[in-house]
Order: sequence, then structure tokens, then C-alpha cells
Amino acid sequence: MVGTECLFCDIGNGKIQADFVCRMKDCFVIKDINPVAPIHFLVIPFAHLTYVDEFIRGDYEIVSSMFGAATESAKKAGILDSGYRLVINQKGHAGQQIEHLHLHVMGGAQLGTMA
Ligand code: 5GP
Ligand code: ZN
Repeated sequence: MVGTECLFCDIGNGKIQADFVCRMKDCFVIKDINPVAPIHFLVIPFAHLTYVDEFIRGDYEIVSSMFGAATESAKKAGILDSGYRLVINQKGHAGQQIEHLHLHVMGGAQLGTMA
């Protein structure tokens, strides 16, 4: 997919503005525009990955860096010890809105139980 057809590709390549938390080699972290917790970040790979079930070997390296970025950003936000939730929504029943892989990092308050 070309960058201009995807919101998160366009945030990654600078065409669309976002509130950046940090930027690494393979992924970047932004604040979610519609936070559901006091801290709500999205860890997004620069590469246009979509579904975990379609990953090829090299994609796992990118995903590994996403977990590193999640830890880094949780630390930066001061929620590393109080606790946080990591979520990846996949397809319809999970309510995935944007078909570019992203890892939600949520915390900063007691979170509700999961559905
Ligand atoms: P999903 O439901 O696909 O797992 O999550 C998509 C997330 O992207 C939602 O939490 C939504 O609030 C967030 N989002 C949608 N559009 C934008 C945007 O333009 N900028 C930012 N920063 N977040 C967005
Ligand atoms: Zn994309």
C-alpha cells in the first residue's frame, strides 16, 4: 500500500501531524487522538503491516522493536511500575478501525476489566 492511502503510514512519513512520544528505527509512538485512559499511546511500525496472522519471519523483528518502544514510552510516562495494558486489535470482532498494525499502551489509572 502507498503511504498516502493509510493514515498511520502518513503519520509515519510526516504527511499528517500527530503528537509524537518517541521515534525509533522501526516504529514510532504517538498519543491516541481519542484516549480511553489518562495515558493512551499507539506504537506503530513504519512498515505497513496489518494482520498478525500474515506476518513473515522479518516482521517479528519489527514487532519486537514495538514492544521495546512500548516499554520505553511507558517508562517515559511514569507508568512502568503502576501498570499498563497492551492491546492489539485484529479484524472485525475486535473493533480494529485502522488496518495498519498498532499496539495500544494504556495506563495512568485503574483500568476496567476486559470484555
Ligand atoms: P483500533 O481500533 O484500530 O485498534 O485503534 C485505532 C486507534 O487510532 C483509536 O484508538 C483511535 O482513537 C486512534 N486514531 C484514529 N485516528 C487517529 C489520528 O488521526 N491520530 C491519532 N493520534 N490517533 C488516531
Ligand atoms: Zn499503513
